[in-house]
Amino acid sequence: MKIRIIKGTNQIGGTITEITSSKGTKILIDFGKDLDTDVTDIPKIDWKEYHAVFITHNHEDHIGLINNIPDDVLVYVEETSLEVYQVFLDFTSKLPLSRKINTFKINEEIKINDDIIVKSYITDHSAFNALMFLIECDDKKVLHTGDFRTNGYKGKLVEQVIKEIKSVDVVVMEGTTLSRNNLKNRLEKNLVKDIYDKTKKYDKVLILQSSTNIDRVVSMYKAMKKSKKIFIEDIFTANITTLLSKKGYTIPNPKTFYDVYSFVPMNRSEYRKDHKTDFYYQYIEPFKKDAHLVMTKEKFGILVKQSMLKDIKLYYNKGYLKNTCLIYSMWEGYKEKEDTNRFLKEIENLGIDIITCHTSGHSDEAARKMVLKELTYRYLIPIHTEQKEKFEKYKHHYILNDGEELEIR
Ligand SMILES: [Zn+2]
Ligand SMILES: [Zn+2]
Repeated sequence: MKIRIIKGTNQIGGTITEITSSKGTKILIDFGKDLDTDVTDIPKIDWKEYHAVFITHNHEDHIGLINNIPDDVLVYVEETSLEVYQVFLDFTSKLPLSRKINTFKINEEIKINDDIIVKSYITDHSAFNALMFLIECDDKKVLHTGDFRTNGYKGKLVEQVIKEIKSVDVVVMEGTTLSRNNLKNRLEKNLVKDIYDKTKKYDKVLILQSSTNIDRVVSMYKAMKKSKKIFIEDIFTANITTLLSKKGYTIPNPKTFYDVYSFVPMNRSEYRKDHKTDFYYQYIEPFKKDAHLVMTKEKFGILVKQSMLKDIKLYYNKGYLKNTCLIYSMWEGYKEKEDTNRFLKEIENLGIDIITCHTSGHSDEAARKMVLKELTYRYLIPIHTEQKEKFEKYKHHYILNDGEELEIR
C-alpha cells in the first residue's frame, strides 16, 4: 500500500491524500479549495486511475472542489453533512452540486474494489458530523484524522474512538495550530460562562460566528438563555438548525425551541439567485416566527452576518440597539480580511462594543498527544499545516512534501 499527499503538506486547507493498494485501487481523501483565496487552481489529477473520493467534512477547504471530479469516480459524503453543505451553497451564492454524491452514515464501512475498506468515525470539529477515516488496505491500516480537536462537546468521543481503533500502521494528522506556539484550546463548554460574563450587562448582543459551527450556536444559545435573552438566528443559520432538528438532533432552532426566533435580513443578494421564487418557498416562507417584535421589545442575542449591516443600522437608527455589544466568535485572522475589517469598523462607529470570545476547531498539543499516546502506530504524516517540521518532536514522524509517497510494507 502507498500513501501520497498530493497537496497540503505546506498549507492549511486544500489537503488531498491519496491511498493506493497493491492491486492499483486508488482513493482520495478530501478535495477542497485553498483557504482564503477566491481562486484555487484545480489540482491536475489523472482521474482514469481513481475509483473514489471520500470527504471528511463539509468545510470548503475539504469539499469545495467536488464538482470538478468526473462522474465515473465515486464521491462519498456523510449524509447530514451533505445536507448542511447544500444549505450553505444556496445561502452563499455558490454553484450548486452538479454531480452524483453517494451518502453514507457514520460508522458505515464502504468497500472499494474489494481491496480498500473505508470506515468513518465521528470526530470533534467546528463542522457538523466531521469524520475521521480508518482505511484498511493490503492488511494495513491508516487513520486519517481530518480536521479535529478534543476541546469541543464531542471531545470525549474522540478519545473513545481512538481507544477503539487502538492500533494502525499510519496516522495522517492535521497540524493547523502548530504555527501558534504552545496553544492550549479553551473548552467549548467554558465559553458559555465566558460569553455570559462578558455580555450580561448588555441588553442586546450581536453575534458574529460561522452558521455551520453548530457547537458554537449551542454555546451562544446557552449563554443568552443564562442572561434571559431571547435567541435569534439569522435565516441561514435557522435553516441549518431546523434541518438538524428534523433529523433528530437537539439543536436550538426556531421550529421546536419556544425561545428561539428567526430573522430574515433585507439584503438577500448573497442567496441563490432564484431567491424570489423557489428559494423563498424553500428557505424563507417556512419561517414565519419572525423576530421583529422581539427585537423592539425584549433583550436578545442575534446571530448576524456582515451582509446584515443595513438591518443593524435600521434597528440602531430606530433606537432599538441601545446598550448593545457584538461578540466576535471566529478565528482572529479573519479580522484582517477587508470586508470583515470594514464591517467591524462600521459597528464600532455605531458605538457598539466589540468583544472577542472564541476557541479553535483544530487540535492543540494536548489533543495531538492524546491520539499519539493512545494509538500504536509506525508512521506519523503531518498535513493541513504550515509547520510540518514541528512534527519532528513526535515519535515515528515521517514528513512528506507535496507529491511525495510512502510505501508501507
Ligand atoms: Zn480544514
Ligand atoms: Zn475544517
